[in-house]
Amino acid sequence: MAIARRKFDVVIVGAGGAGMRAALALSEAGLKVAVLSKVFPTRSHTVAAQGGIAASLGNVNEDNWHWHMYDTVKGSDYLGDQDAIEFMCRAAPEVVYELEHFGMPFDRLDSGKIYQRPFGGHMQDYGKTPVPRACAAADRTGHALLHTLYQQNVRANTNFFVEWMALDLIRDQDGDVLGVVAMEIETNEVMILQARATLFATGGAGRIFAASTNAYINTGDGLGMAARAGIPLEDMEFFQFHPTGVYGAGVLITEGVRGEGGYLVNKDGERFMQRYAPHAKDLASRDVVSRAMATEIKEGRGCGKDADHLLLKLDHLGADVINMRLPGIREIAIKFSQVDPINEPIPVVPTAHYMMGGIPTNYHGQVVAPYKTGPEDVVQGFYAVGECACVSVHGANRLGCNSLLDLVVFGRAAARQIIEDLKNNPHPKPLPADATDRPLARLARLEGQKNGERVAEVGDAMRKTMQTHCGVFRFPDLLAEGVSKIREVAERVKHTEITDKSRVFNTARVEALELDNLVEVAQATMTAAAAREESRGAHARDDFPERDDNKWLKHTLYFSEGRRLDYKPVRLKPLTVESFPPKPRVY
Ligand SMILES: Cc1cc2nc3c(=O)[nH]c(=O)nc-3n(C[C@H](O)[C@H](O)[C@H](O)COP(=O)(O)OP(=O)(O)OC[C@H]3O[C@@H](n4cnc5c(N)ncnc54)[C@H](O)[C@@H]3O)c2cc1C
Repeated sequence: MAIARRKFDVVIVGAGGAGMRAALALSEAGLKVAVLSKVFPTRSHTVAAQGGIAASLGNVNEDNWHWHMYDTVKGSDYLGDQDAIEFMCRAAPEVVYELEHFGMPFDRLDSGKIYQRPFGGHMQDYGKTPVPRACAAADRTGHALLHTLYQQNVRANTNFFVEWMALDLIRDQDGDVLGVVAMEIETNEVMILQARATLFATGGAGRIFAASTNAYINTGDGLGMAARAGIPLEDMEFFQFHPTGVYGAGVLITEGVRGEGGYLVNKDGERFMQRYAPHAKDLASRDVVSRAMATEIKEGRGCGKDADHLLLKLDHLGADVINMRLPGIREIAIKFSQVDPINEPIPVVPTAHYMMGGIPTNYHGQVVAPYKTGPEDVVQGFYAVGECACVSVHGANRLGCNSLLDLVVFGRAAARQIIEDLKNNPHPKPLPADATDRPLARLARLEGQKNGERVAEVGDAMRKTMQTHCGVFRFPDLLAEGVSKIREVAERVKHTEITDKSRVFNTARVEALELDNLVEVAQATMTAAAAREESRGAHARDDFPERDDNKWLKHTLYFSEGRRLDYKPVRLKPLTVESFPPKPRVY
């Protein structure tokens, strides 16, 4: 079968904030850029970001990038790479002003400056008091950001491939990356997109869990493709549980609610965070708040007839603040939990939210992996940014509002690096003969499978296994069992059948292809979690409750082949300042 082929300077997989920020800089530099997205660009998960984007503008109270850097290092539980963290926190004000100049409609203070609100873990003066650092457009910051970037890309003539799904990466015998093989979702048409640079910006994989704040499209495709092509995945055991997902629905209630003065209570009406984090209280780091909530529930102080959730109180803020700063939250509460937060608290529970791990990169967005000369080589032609990448600025736990920041800082940095790299790489290398073998074999298997299991059933088994065996608190027996269970699920994935081979919307086929990626991520997460015998950030082991810097101040690498783990050192040295040495983390 002859397969169509198109050539670009750069192929970007993903049209969220990260992919679009990079695309804009590349198109503006005159390069021929293709952006692929499974959904219309402005439906990418970035659109759902509510609370804000962090930058030490100091518009409300005094602030500076070094405090921001300290908070991010501390928030990461010292696992974040300090060169990348310095790079990001320093660039933050500039990239936010850039967004403002692109036309992003931020909320305003009376002075006309960008409105900022407090967020968990963002503090003044090296951890002393909460500081308003989150730049916000009401509770729809991601929506404002994504639409702004999309419009700028339309103006810059970026080529969008809408409802195209990348299936697999093309690597040649040298290990260089030469593009992707993709499928048009509506027609099944398969095409080679050949490129001198390939950038993954495919977002997160929250859908490995049963209860998640993530969109259904967040299936870790970039990680699956990278893993199948021999690239390791970094720090996959660190998955953030957001303290306030709507009980029973998973939909997110932004931390901005607590930033505006809302707080959590247990069944006795007690503001329990005072006991766990006397200074920061409800604005402690997310891992700290989620564990406190899980503990309240475990010890019988949960709310409702099953004592299995807590309440987020914000009625005391008054209708004006709620309607002006948190209108989307009010809508979500009314729709998904049938309460109007102007009068009543919202039932909430910790919910899987954000993947700190991902495809290993440096702060130029270049993918680093074992390759031609050593364990941390730059892979020629391959870049990753956004939630699918592990830079690592979030380490073991991400601070709120640092993800939108990560997207635009590293989206721009990767674009700049690509522009440089392409000057030395004027011609695309020839494609290897086996460029389409893997994706075509995956499609053929789905086409040929008879009497297999249903995709939805196997997917459910995966999500339940992750939820039960790899949650907020992790127990040794559950983890060990989880590793073998998730392997069984991975075997079942190989024999799934798509019952509805609809040629019109083709959703069944897409879901089957996504499950290949999800199960890759799930195995990486479970395997790495079972191996890490300490508690750090979002990874809380019941049998190893302390952080262990002697043994575990290192990044995990998971290799799909043989489900092998390896480790690499944390980059503790920042670019220009002194490093923040690990110390006990209290809020
Ligand atoms: C509900 C919610 C609220 C949040 N609020 C905040 C906040 O207030 N502040 C903050 O800093 N962070 C927030 N976050 C986190 C942050 O929004 C995300 O981490 C970030 O938006 C991810 O952006 P991205 O560009 O990496 O990917 P995404 O925005 O998820 O986009 C991924 C893109 O990749 C495409 N794609 C994926 N796979 C394929 C494939 N195989 N082929 C083709 N295209 C593909 C998708 O179509 C999509 O275009 C929030 C997250 C959630 C879920």
